[in-house]
Amino acid sequence: MKKKGLLLVISGPAGAGKGTVVGELVKDENVRLSISATTRAPRGQEQNGKEYYFLTKEEFEKSISEDGFFEYARYLDNYYGSPKKPVEQWRQEGRDVILEIDVQGCKKIKEQVGDCVSIFIMPPSLEVLEKRLRGRGTETEENIIKRMKRAEEELTLASGYDYVVINDSLEDCVDDVRAVIRAEKLRSERQY
Ligand code: 5GP
Repeated sequence: MKKKGLLLVISGPAGAGKGTVVGELVKDENVRLSISATTRAPRGQEQNGKEYYFLTKEEFEKSISEDGFFEYARYLDNYYGSPKKPVEQWRQEGRDVILEIDVQGCKKIKEQVGDCVSIFIMPPSLEVLEKRLRGRGTETEENIIKRMKRAEEELTLASGYDYVVINDSLEDCVDDVRAVIRAEKLRSERQY
């Protein structure tokens, strides 16, 4: 029988480059990104099952009552959550699944999934982080200040993660995460 895949929880402040790192990792057929469910309406080109699973409030609440989410939260009058079913199915098929989620969400998942592996993607410095946020050209000054404050708070929580990987060069960062995946698969408790 195939070995069960890993559940990887990846967090890090906005601008740390999480999305790009995850984008590289999922190029591997054996790695899947968990898609969240939400009750908010699709924006622009968003498609059901791609960016999110778009559910009605009734469908979402039914799934909550059936214990269908690892965790969920309300944000601006909408629900957001990480559905268990697809994650469990992929893991049974031997695929590693990534949940890209914030520090609070990671805590909740750790409580439920004892063998999950948490990775914090760290920017090389706060200066670099600020440069990256400004470089996007999409954020207002007020937003940048807010995000930097939040990032500073988040960085202090990195020590609660199993691994901390610095995203200085994208290639090295992706290599480091792949090294974590390889090593985790070799843990004795996953062998038997
Ligand atoms: P947006 O509507 O802009 O796509 O997302 C709004 C917020 O919901 C973002 O902060 C995003 O990180 C958060 N979010 C997306 N999916 C989930 C999820 O599965 N669980 C939780 N707790 N938050 C989520």
